[in-house]
Amino acid sequence: MDFTVSEKMKTILEMVNEFIDRELIPLEPEFTTRGFREMLPVLKEKQKKVKQMELWAPNFPKDCGGMGMSLVDHGLLSEALGRTPLGHYVFWCQAPDAGNVEILHMFGTEEQKEKYLKPLVAGDIRSCFSMTEVDMPGSNPVLLETTAEKDGDDYVINGHKWYTSSADGSDFAIVMAVTDPQASAYMQASMIIVPTDTPGFNLVRNISVMGHEGEDYFSHAEILYQSCRVPQSNLLGPEGHGFVIAQERLGPGRIHHCMRWLGICQRSFELMCRRANSRKITRDGKPLASRQIIQAWVAESAAEIQAARLMTLHAAWQIDNEGAKAARDKISMIKFVVANTMQRVVDRALQVHGGLGMTDDTILAFFYRHERAARIYDGADEVHKTSLARRILKTYDF
Ligand SMILES: Cc1cc2nc3c(=O)[nH]c(=O)nc-3n(C[C@H](O)[C@H](O)[C@H](O)COP(=O)(O)OP(=O)(O)OC[C@H]3O[C@@H](n4cnc5c(N)ncnc54)[C@H](O)[C@@H]3O)c2cc1C
Repeated sequence: MDFTVSEKMKTILEMVNEFIDRELIPLEPEFTTRGFREMLPVLKEKQKKVKQMELWAPNFPKDCGGMGMSLVDHGLLSEALGRTPLGHYVFWCQAPDAGNVEILHMFGTEEQKEKYLKPLVAGDIRSCFSMTEVDMPGSNPVLLETTAEKDGDDYVINGHKWYTSSADGSDFAIVMAVTDPQASAYMQASMIIVPTDTPGFNLVRNISVMGHEGEDYFSHAEILYQSCRVPQSNLLGPEGHGFVIAQERLGPGRIHHCMRWLGICQRSFELMCRRANSRKITRDGKPLASRQIIQAWVAESAAEIQAARLMTLHAAWQIDNEGAKAARDKISMIKFVVANTMQRVVDRALQVHGGLGMTDDTILAFFYRHERAARIYDGADEVHKTSLARRILKTYDF
């Protein structure tokens, strides 16, 4: 494989890094201490600038208004955008919309594309993905209690979901619900588009996560579907294919997450090195960086980030060239390797900042609490490790 970054991509990355340093990082203190909704007008202004730079929706397909970047190129861009929590949102390639765009593009009817996909790519509306349930283990997603029963021309949905990220302010949810309890386990559920103003779509609360309820895009909702009625034409893809479609959504989505986490690593590493050099810890002005334990953290972080980065780019390259199925093991590996690398790097950077690291005067405390979830969502570490190990062990079974 060839990891050469094209001249075009180099120019784009330079522009993006410059934009992030100049336009977005200065907004972070306001972002971490005030509500996200209050920031929307200023973020919309930044989004206009991104559109003028012709860098809007970089990974979305060209035929619906995106730039159609390859996964490797988008991975590189995502790494740059991940240096700030505002990056993906302002360039419009944020989860969960990114995954929803992919599946609407692949499986949506013409009517669904017109009504939901086009305005979503244009940034006129937002969406969410509603699969995980309060009372069932998300790690075994075939165990779902939410049902969608046919009644006349409609589906009537009942169920109790939570962790529907970004539901607050979304225009529609893609809901995973059991449409045929008699079918085999992987064919029981379907994906159904539910506009959030449908009667029976009840957003109970934004869940308080690590001390923060969040709001709008930065939130995770608990939702009760109570006799929530939508037309059967809102079915996404064939009935019973919910898990097949979910698999399509998760492969590239994990590359996006991993590259975003590498951006977080990069930013934390930059902050760690600057602080280590500038913080004087002795009377004669020796900096923290003069201490071997800090040097070890710098070296270990640099090496771990590089290893995680190469693994992720390789997985992205394999998906681009051979498809997500061929890259299955690599995707499992990067999911837990990169999440843990990120947590170690953020932790070291925070430690180097001492008391300052705990404050919201740097972005590190936000990264520390917000990104703990990386080891849980899109498959907990343990689930990826055990399924990867089982596949590996099978190859030695003779
Ligand atoms: C910040 C955040 C955002 C999220 N966003 C969304 C979203 O937008 N939409 C959505 O539908 N869901 C979302 N989720 C939910 C997420 O996908 C689930 O939390 C995840 O799948 C785990 O399911 P669970 O929480 O029910 O944990 P459980 O399934 O109860 O598992 C709990 C723990 O048990 C262990 N475990 C589970 N199974 C095994 C196993 N087979 N072997 C060994 N150990 C195991 C793991 O350590 C795991 O963390 C989000 C979660 C978080 C934290």
